[in-house]
Amino acid sequence: MPDTQSTTEQPQSGAPMLGDHLAMDLLNTEARADGQLVEFWTNDQDLLLWLARYGISQTATATPADLLSQAKALRALAHQLISQFRAGQPVDYRLLNPYLQAHSTVPYLEQDAEGTLRLSRQSTANSSGALLGPVAEAVAQLLVEGNAALVKQCEHPDCILWFYDRTKAHKRRWCSMALCGNRHKAAQFRTRSGG
Ligand SMILES: [Zn+2]
Repeated sequence: MPDTQSTTEQPQSGAPMLGDHLAMDLLNTEARADGQLVEFWTNDQDLLLWLARYGISQTATATPADLLSQAKALRALAHQLISQFRAGQPVDYRLLNPYLQAHSTVPYLEQDAEGTLRLSRQSTANSSGALLGPVAEAVAQLLVEGNAALVKQCEHPDCILWFYDRTKAHKRRWCSMALCGNRHKAAQFRTRSGG
């Protein structure tokens, strides 16, 4: 059966990039597999690689000491704000402002391995806030421009991944058809065939 969903393929390692929005992929750095919570940010290196995949890098060679803890705090806050936004509740948006105001990056162009140009961001100050700024901005952008009805979590009961539904009919149900869509179909088939 053809997969009609426009999702990015999950890479071999690292957190899934299937949220179709950086703010969604931020939440997806925590996942669930076999009932266990999976943390994709276990050290600074994980986090720097994750940021690099979204075109965010630092000029300094020394990593700010509080980078990992600040990134996790931003993720927890994003979880709170996006959940409120999605539920139509008042959003504690002011809590995001310190992260936005610490934002200090410059845009630059780079070419990927296939020769495609992309607009990337490089921090201009050696602080965790400077480097995490573009991530905080993505969360702000979702709250400002996003449609709360399109902020969804995968419908599979064992999955906690988030995505922004950019499909034309807005009927996306799964983080990935290849993962949870097929798991669901297999479970339905087992039910129907009584096994
Ligand atoms: Zn899923």
